[in-house]
Parts: sequence; C-alpha cells; structure tokens
Amino acid sequence: MLTSMPHHNLTLLGFSPLKSSSFALFLRPFSLYPILASSPRRPRAAGYRRSDPSPRFPPRRKWSSFEEESRQRKGMSSSSDSFEFNKRRAEGKDKIDQPKKSLKRNTRTLNPTNTIAYVQILGTGMDTQDTSPSVLLFFDKQRFIFNAGEGLQRFCTEHKIKLSKVDHIFLSRVCSETAGGLPGLLLTLAGIGEDGLSVNVWGPSDLKYLVDAMRSFIPRAAMVHTRSFGPSDSTPQIGGSSKAKEDPFVLVNDEVVKISAILLEPSPSEEPGNKSGETSVVYVCELPEINGKFDPAKAMALGLRAGPKYGKLQSGQSVKSDFKDITVHPSDVMGPSVPGPVVLLVDCPAESHAEELLSAPSMKSYYSADGDKFVNCIIHLSPASVTNSATYQSWMKRFHSAQHILAGHETKNMEFPILKASSRITARLNYLCPQFFPAPGFWSPQHATDLTNPDSSSKCFGSSLGENVSAENLLKFTLRPHVNLGLDRSCIPSQLTSSRVIDELLSEIPEISSKTEEVKRLWNGPHNNKMMIEEPWLNESTVPSCLENIRRDDMEIVLLGTGSSQPSRYRNVSAVYIDLFSRGSILLDCGEGTLGQLKRRYGLEGADEAVRNLKCIWISHIHADHHTGLARILARRRELLKGGAHEPVIVVGPRPLKNFLDAYQRLEDLDMEFLDCRNTTSTSWASLETTSPEKTTSNGSAEGSLFSKGSPMLSIYKRPSSPVTDNASALPYLKKLKRVLGEMGLEDLISFPVVHCPQAFGVVLKAAERKNMAGDKIPGWKMVYSGDTRPCPQMVEASKGATVLIHEATFEDALVEEAVAKNHSTTKEAIDVGSSAGVYRIILTHFSQRYPKIPVIDESHMHNTCIGFDMMSINMADLHVLPKIVPYFKNLFRNVVVDDEDGEGEEESDDGLMMSVNKVSSFFRN
Ligand SMILES: [Zn+2]
Ligand SMILES: [Zn+2]
Repeated sequence: MLTSMPHHNLTLLGFSPLKSSSFALFLRPFSLYPILASSPRRPRAAGYRRSDPSPRFPPRRKWSSFEEESRQRKGMSSSSDSFEFNKRRAEGKDKIDQPKKSLKRNTRTLNPTNTIAYVQILGTGMDTQDTSPSVLLFFDKQRFIFNAGEGLQRFCTEHKIKLSKVDHIFLSRVCSETAGGLPGLLLTLAGIGEDGLSVNVWGPSDLKYLVDAMRSFIPRAAMVHTRSFGPSDSTPQIGGSSKAKEDPFVLVNDEVVKISAILLEPSPSEEPGNKSGETSVVYVCELPEINGKFDPAKAMALGLRAGPKYGKLQSGQSVKSDFKDITVHPSDVMGPSVPGPVVLLVDCPAESHAEELLSAPSMKSYYSADGDKFVNCIIHLSPASVTNSATYQSWMKRFHSAQHILAGHETKNMEFPILKASSRITARLNYLCPQFFPAPGFWSPQHATDLTNPDSSSKCFGSSLGENVSAENLLKFTLRPHVNLGLDRSCIPSQLTSSRVIDELLSEIPEISSKTEEVKRLWNGPHNNKMMIEEPWLNESTVPSCLENIRRDDMEIVLLGTGSSQPSRYRNVSAVYIDLFSRGSILLDCGEGTLGQLKRRYGLEGADEAVRNLKCIWISHIHADHHTGLARILARRRELLKGGAHEPVIVVGPRPLKNFLDAYQRLEDLDMEFLDCRNTTSTSWASLETTSPEKTTSNGSAEGSLFSKGSPMLSIYKRPSSPVTDNASALPYLKKLKRVLGEMGLEDLISFPVVHCPQAFGVVLKAAERKNMAGDKIPGWKMVYSGDTRPCPQMVEASKGATVLIHEATFEDALVEEAVAKNHSTTKEAIDVGSSAGVYRIILTHFSQRYPKIPVIDESHMHNTCIGFDMMSINMADLHVLPKIVPYFKNLFRNVVVDDEDGEGEEESDDGLMMSVNKVSSFFRN
C-alpha cells in the first residue's frame, strides 16, 4: 500500500545504496549482453549489480519449488503456501514496520537580491492538450510551480527540473486538468532522501475535497502542508465578511517575493454536474523594489566620513553630515531604485470567469491607467475560446505594455512532442515494425500539412495589442537581472520531427533498413512453415482455433504504459487499452497520464473518440501507478459526452478505489458506476445465474485454493477494513456489466485475487464464440492481465488456455529477492506462469524504471513471449508474429548505452537525484 515508507531493512534484501544504483544504470556498458543473451544459462556479468549475490535461482526453476529453498532462507518473506511471497505486504501490514514520519519542508536561506529570477512555461500537455501547462517561478533559492497536471513529474525528469527544490505549488483551479499530477508528485517527494519531503500546496477551497480523496492512498504526512484559501460553502471562513473583497489573499510574503491570490467565482452554473473549476484564481507575483546603488563620491561631497553612517543611509535612514551642518538623506547618495517586476497568472476556464475578472476590484491597482503598479508579464492559462473573446481582449488592453504570454491550449504545438526521449523510441520502433508500433498521433499524416507551413497556426490574435506571444515549451520571461527583463527564447527546445529521428537512426544503425524488410517478411507466408521443422516448441506456434480468420477489427491490445512505480522518460505507468473497435473499448488500469498517452497514440481527435468509446474501466489495485489517471479520463469522458444521451461508464476496481472516487466526486462529477472487483469474481458471476437473491451473498470461499479456508490470504478478506461485499446490492450493476459486455461481443470479465497488496486483482476477458464461413462455431479468444502480483496458483489457474497473457515482469531474473519482498514477478517467473498455463502468447509489462529503455531479458525463453513498449499495439490478427519481433529489438537498442552517455542534450543521463527518487519511491508505491 502506498502509505508505506521505504524499508529500512532493505539492505538485508540486497537493496543497494541509492547513489551507486543510480549510476549503475548508465555506467554498465555490458548491460546489453544479459538483455539479449542467446545462451539460456548465461551467467550474469560479475559485478553487474554489485549488491546481487550470485544467482541463487537457476534459470529454469519453477515457481512451485520456491517453498523448499525459502524455508532455508531467512528474510521477511513468509512461505506457508506453495509459493513464496511477502505476506506482510500482501496483507498491508508492511507499513506498520516503518517508523511514522513527519515529512520535512525545505528551509532555505533566502537571497533577496536574487541575481537570477524568471518565470518559465513548463509545456506539460502542451502537445497533447490533456492537461494544463504549468508555470515555474524561479529564484536562486526558491522555486514555485503553478499547476500540477498529469505528467508534470515526467516532464521535469526529461527537462531536468528538480522537483525536490520546489517549495510551493499553487493551483489555479482544483480539478484533474490542473492537479492530476499532484498525488504522484506528493508520493515522489515523500520518497526523496532518508526522511522524505513535502511541499506547500495552495489552492481555492475546493482543494480540501482533493485532499480528502487523496487520503485513501497518500500518507497524511505528505499532505500536511496543503492549504486552501477563500470562502468554502460548508464552513464560511472566519473573518470572511470583514475581509474586504478587494483585498487579495496574501499567501507568501518574504524577502524575495510576495504571492497573492484573487478569486474568480462566477455565479453557480445552471448545468448539473459541472463542478470542476468553479472557482479559479489569478495569482499575482510581486518582486520587491531593489534599492539604487550607494555612491560614496556623493557621500564624501556631502561631508560624510566612511563608516557606520554609510550603512545607515543604505538602510534608508537619514544621517547628520560629519563636516557640514546638513542632514544627508538616502536619496542624496543612492542611485535610482529599480521597481520590482510584477507577473500575473490568469486562468479563466470560461467566459463567466472573465466577467468576474473584469469586475474584480482587487485587480484595479494593476491596471496601467489607474494603478500604481506596473505589470511586466501576464501568463494566460485561459483557453483560446476565452482569450479570443471581446470581453477578455478588452481586459488585456488595460495593461498597456505588459508582455502577454498565451499558454492556454492551442493547436500550434501539437505536432512537436514535448517528451522527446520517448517519442524518439516510439518513432524508431515504428520504423522497425509499423504493424506493432504505429506512428504516434503527433506525426500522423493528418498533421503533416501543418508541418510544412509552421506559420499557419502560430499567428497571434489581436495584433493591435502588439505584445502577445504564444507560449512555447520552456519559454522564459526574465525578471532579474533587470537589464535582461523580458522574453528569453534560448531554452525552447528544437523541434523534433519523425523524419529527423529516422535520419538519425539510419546513420547510427545503417543495417536497420534491411532489418525492417525482414520484419515485413514475418507476415508473409504460412505462419509456421519453417519453424515446424526446426523448433521444438511446435505446439506453441500452432495458431489456436480462436484466431482462425480473425478480423483486424476484432480486438487490439494497446499498451499505453509499461513502466512501474512512477512515470519515467521512456515508460509511462500502467494502462492497457483494449480496443474492440465499433463495439467499444475497455481500459485495464489507468496510471497518471493515461489520457496523454491516448493522445500520443491516436492524436487529439482520435483519443477523444477512444475516451467516448470506453464502456468499462477495470483497476487492479490501488497503487498510484495503476489508478491516478482515472479521474482525468472520467472527467474528460463526461466533458465529451455532456448533453448527449449516454450511460455512465462502469468502473470495476478494488474497494479502496471506491472511497477515493466517492470523495473525489465532490470535486468533479465523474459520470460512472462502481463495481467492486470482488463482485466480478467467478463466484459472484455464478451467483448472478442463481435466481434466489438470498444466496448471492457468498463470500470468497469459492475463489480458489489461494483464498480457501485456513489459507494465509483469507485473512486479507476478513480484515475489518475490507468487509466482504454484499453481492445483492451489487447485483444491478453486475447485470448491467453483463449486458455491456454482451454488447461488446464479450462473454466474461472475471476478476481474480492475486498476491501483491490487500485487494489486488488480475482479470480475464473472454470473447463470445463466433461462427466461421462454414457455419462452425469458433471459440472466443481469452485475454488475461495480471495486474501486479507474485506468480501464484491463482494466476496460473486463471491463465489456463489463454490466447494472450499480459503479465507484469517488474524485475529481471537475478532480482528475485526484490521481487519476493515487493510481491512482484521476475521476467522468468512471468513466462513460467504463462507456460504452465499453456498460454499462446505472453506480453511482459510493468518493468522497473531501473530499465529505462529495454528490460533485461533472456532471449532464449522468449519463443512465445514479447516485451511491451509504450504505444505498442497488438492486433489479434498479428498475434502469431509477436515473439518473432523480439530478436530485432537487439538491433534497435544495441546503442542504448552510447545513447545515454553521449547523445545530444535530451539524451543525457538523468541527474543523480531524479534517479535516486526512482529508486526510493519504487519501494513503496508500486
Ligand atoms: Zn504497479
Ligand atoms: Zn502495485
């Protein structure tokens, strides 16, 4: 569970010190040999991971034989069943082992005469428009970030912005668009260093709803610095009436900056269910005036001796002259002072907010005509639909010479990916094998025309205003030093196009073009002609009957996120999109940034279509890497379907997820219906068939041997915090799910318990049977997804005869002890589960972020297996080819280490801190 903190006893388990681990990723030139070793028993290179003891687990070991060995071994893992796992973690008791922490706030010595200060656009979501961009306010010793949408962490990792140095986060609204990245961010900060960090989070009063919701999976300590301001509907603020409406809320006021908030609260909208972003905030950042320079020549001329009086004058006091009978005032000896720059951040999500903005009395002192303050820069987070309005433009004109930066969503940046590292990999994979790696949405042909004419969409409106620019990723406005006041474009990254990526690839790996030709030929001819003679795994390459003449619009698996723990540069966190084409779609897990990944895969319109098409979302367990993107997807779906006839989407998830969603719906209507995973087990489905409702309140006794009476896992079900669900009340939803599945051509969606944390599940999807041309019945395919789990009998049982098994493979084979401690699987274990169950194809996913581009695998075991990559799209009609693509990854990734060490700017290795963040947090959040 996420509330747990890093284990302090991990050293016992081969946990390596942070610093050296972080370097290991980039300083191990031999890592590629084990990645694609061709010998099945090739030993690991000595010293490869210095904390690893020599492999105790022979490569061909079966999970079922863990027991004997584990009994001889000491450790925190228990093994009273036929397989090994960490019982305390599975039961959610591991967090009790850890000392309670009170997370520190950074304290810094401030530097009022900051030599450098600027605001910078962090273009999070600027390309995919799935989230609001963030803005960084940077000082030598203090950092502030405005808005924390999904993907902020991933963005900061890629662009080397150290989140550990951020002191305050301000939300311009409280909704998934502006705060979707906050849960992940708080968890990451809590995992930094020995004690963890926290950050001050500010937002309008709605923030308390978000905090309430996050309590279900974020340690309280990580949120103690969360503060809301402004009137709240339930408890009117004390002094709220006496505080004049024209006074902004002053949130920060130190030697360096004063940050205040002006609330925009339009009258409640008529539209039902439209709760999000009702209140928005204008943030005002004012830097202090800098005193002019002291001129000793002037002081001397006025008859002053060098000494303490100089200091007094500089601090603003008048003094008596030493040699003349006069009083010397500071203005006599000081140069002219430099006014402190003022920056405004404005977020008007709708025109009604703009009207509030126009009439806000607290804005008055900032207008050029009647104000005493001069605004240098205004960053508009408002969407183009609002900023283009006459109301808004007339308001903008009140600031005569302010620099306006329009940072609301615009189409301009769409074709240029903000996360270059991952788009580069996607483009390379696309070149190698477009069948499994389709062109990303950015670079699809429909956008090609825009590329040829970059000016076509970059025009700024209202040329009469003169000082408007469109925001670009990493665009800066310098505030200090004063001589540089103004826009700074030097950090804006060069634009990456797919043709440039391919040119790079071809010059780096010239033979790749012939490999691409070979890959094409994999699709030609009968599926298994040559293999039949040469290869011993004949049975596994015989195409199962369910795939007979299968159509391309039957089912496609799209891996949207294949990394564990937290979003990284190359792999986003878990999400699998099951595309059933005209019949709808299902999401299995939904980590942070899933909406953005859909946009990267399908383009802006395509992703909206995909979201509209969702009929069911299934969540495996309540770890942040599996569900924090859910609210954003649901909110987007509600927005897209608003007004039209539609049904709420069905969310099937573990019980704690319901707590989160219930609390969250006070903030944003999510337009969904919840069904507990335990109500979709085979037992529950069976009870649906029985006619008598009294019989339907069965418990987990029939969930298989793992949860049978007296088994160690049963206690998890019996814990007070997880009451056995009442099937009777879930019955209407279960019936509805049955109908929805039927409409999608599915026969079954069955959740089954797995061994990971309390209430962790895997899922089976089964297609209904169909008829072939001759009228014969063809069985439906069966797809199984493991969620996060140790290999366990339940997993094998559920996977029996599956057409595809998507199984987590967090760790490489040598790290089996870590896999046991964290209740995850190694590559080999995942493959063994599939093999024991007679699965036709295995897809590995959920790789530890210690394998940034490609995980460590043993190629010789991959004859029916493939490793997953973000955006990989596996059509059922291509399933027979799937494992044959694996050897080609060797060609594509042969230069991985070189890339990381001497690639261009964005290919440099991550800084030590970010990597150590990865290391720590992965221990308590996946
Ligand atoms: Zn996970
Ligand atoms: Zn997990």
